Amino acid sequence: MSGAPRGERATEAVRPRVRDDLALMEGYHSPQVSVEVRLNTNESPVPPPVAFTEQLAAAIAGVDWHRYPDRSAKALRAKIAVHYGVRSEQVFVANGSNEVLQCLLLAYGGPGRTAAVFEPTYALHSHIARVCGTRVVEGERTETFDLDPAVVRALIERERPEVVFLCSPNNPTGVVDPPETVRQVLDLASSYGGLVIVDEAYGQFAPSSAVSLVDDDTPLVVSRTFSKTWSLAALRLGYCIAPSWLVADLDSVVLPYHLDAVKQLAGALALDFRAEMDERVAFLVEERGRLVAAMADLPVTVWPSGANFVLFRPDGRDGDDVWRQLVDRSVLVRNCASWPRLDGCLRVTIGTREEDDRFLAALREVLT
Ligand code: PMP
Repeated sequence: MSGAPRGERATEAVRPRVRDDLALMEGYHSPQVSVEVRLNTNESPVPPPVAFTEQLAAAIAGVDWHRYPDRSAKALRAKIAVHYGVRSEQVFVANGSNEVLQCLLLAYGGPGRTAAVFEPTYALHSHIARVCGTRVVEGERTETFDLDPAVVRALIERERPEVVFLCSPNNPTGVVDPPETVRQVLDLASSYGGLVIVDEAYGQFAPSSAVSLVDDDTPLVVSRTFSKTWSLAALRLGYCIAPSWLVADLDSVVLPYHLDAVKQLAGALALDFRAEMDERVAFLVEERGRLVAAMADLPVTVWPSGANFVLFRPDGRDGDDVWRQLVDRSVLVRNCASWPRLDGCLRVTIGTREEDDRFLAALREVLT
């Protein structure tokens, strides 16, 4: 018998090629290094209350495992709605706020459509937009990383993007967009049918929010997450507050039963622990003030932050080198030194008092 031996293909297999527009894209990664003090991914430094985990364990025992979960997560949406004083139909929930953003782009972005971002900002906004086939246009923030109304107006009027991304507090700079700015962007976008997405993943740490601007007559959606303030990064649960017609559009693009039963239970239960969440947020805001005050004595430039992290640049030092020396002292921060427009910058997440003291001591040692 001739031909290929058993189990081997006669012809060379032709490997399927990824879409041309994805071929050169890199994924989004946050390197995890094994260290004692991990301040690189903006998580909560403490786990959720013990009572939460105990009650969740008890609730999980009652899950009907052989049945699909509630497809529209009614109970969870209703509780989030009460939390924000809106109607259930104005709430959409998904696997992390990243999935909320993806659903928004599936519904309102896509081929032939444009999304605007103002850099530097959260890299996933443009990444998810591109994965969904959306063209991305960029505006620049000012030296202080604020939005420049003239730049915003020029970009929006020129491109008329279907989607405009704001991020408040902005990751990785910590800058908060005041409601007047959001209103100005809304005025521009609503004149031609654009949608404004305000990503408030860190909203609870900030002095202002765009949530109160949401209603059925305004093309505004505000996304939030359980990952940071609720100490539930492992849960992968996010949501948005939006006009009811927009939520209906999201419900039509999301996969059926995307939100599992455990996630729905855990999210609803977490909202019973609001006082504990508020306490953690208050602690982290206070601790942020302490950290920034202590950094004022060091040779670093620090940007004011409304989030649970602080962006800083060691003066006259190579950011990569400072990052490495911090790792040598078992402290991991986010290295933004080579990111566009963030030359030499590092970002530190607010941790426990002990973690922040370890960070401050290590930074002092490296810099002085
Ligand atoms: N938006 C911003 C600005 C973020 O920083 C993050 C987390 N890094 C997210 C959204 C995504 O959060 P999650 O998917 O965990 O809800």
